[in-house]
Amino acid sequence: MKSVVFLDDLKESDIRPEKMYDEYKELLRQDTLKYFSDHSLLVKVACPGCLNKNSKGVFKKDGFNYCICDKCGSFFVSPRPSDEALRDFYKNSRAGIFLRKKFLTNTLESRSKNIFSYRIQWITGLVEEYAPSAKVFLDYGTRYPTFMKELDNTGIFSSFFSVKPEYFGQEDLLPKNVKTAEAKCIFKEDIDVFAAFEIVERVFSPRELFRQASAACRKGGLFIITSATSSGFEYQVLKEHSPNIIAPDRLNILALEALTNQIEKSGFEIIEVSTPGRLDVEIVKRVYEKNPGIPLDSFWKYIFNNRDANALHSFQEYLQQFRLSSHVRIAAIKK
Ligand SMILES: [Zn+2]
Repeated sequence: MKSVVFLDDLKESDIRPEKMYDEYKELLRQDTLKYFSDHSLLVKVACPGCLNKNSKGVFKKDGFNYCICDKCGSFFVSPRPSDEALRDFYKNSRAGIFLRKKFLTNTLESRSKNIFSYRIQWITGLVEEYAPSAKVFLDYGTRYPTFMKELDNTGIFSSFFSVKPEYFGQEDLLPKNVKTAEAKCIFKEDIDVFAAFEIVERVFSPRELFRQASAACRKGGLFIITSATSSGFEYQVLKEHSPNIIAPDRLNILALEALTNQIEKSGFEIIEVSTPGRLDVEIVKRVYEKNPGIPLDSFWKYIFNNRDANALHSFQEYLQQFRLSSHVRIAAIKK
């Protein structure tokens, strides 16, 4: 199994400009009160990382109850909105509209340079090595029609499917050869590459997503995901103080091993696990500087107070190298 590191610098403000991100989070807070304050409509779930039923709430965030599984270490919201309620929320809430129309649109150029280009290199490399005859690409929960267009420009794939897309109203940005499927994954062993970028965190049931991926992929087909992971530095150190624990965007922040175990159990062999995240150290440092009173271990405070940018950069590299960053990418091959 391989693992890669990225040495390029990325600033959080490149992809999440603070003012706009705060505006989004404020809308999210108001909208979740409006949509989900009736707790009788929420569904209690077992740990989505290992199905342990005994985890209890550990902290609250904007009205949602976050649990940390005492078996696998995954962070998750329970009780949570149903699949239908989430879809309605992402499509119609002011936060959902702001995210598509302003936040993602305004950061598109930077995302293309700092995120999409890496993804395309990743996909190109995987296909070349493991699935050279691949032609059919499926993107689950598509949020970036522009990414699909950039991928189409590589000429690798001849057809694209977008399942349960979230680009409502931006269909004209898609390449021409994309077919969309709204409700359920209707594919049966005919997909060469099944991708789920930043989706595991948002779905009602990650297990159901992995099951659908397994049913859709042909033997030898690839399943690739990117996700936040609770095993990483940012979430381990900050927990509820992480500015990126926001619901319902992050209902599931699964531990690294919980992700790989579930993917394997769904019928895949893991071929790559990397944590190419470039932001953990910057995020933790910034949270500490803005709020020096947070319960942060004195060792981290010492580092932030007494070491320079070079040391922090090397530390982020270390996190990548040993799969300890909070952003993971996994590639697996269907058995
Ligand atoms: Zn668990």
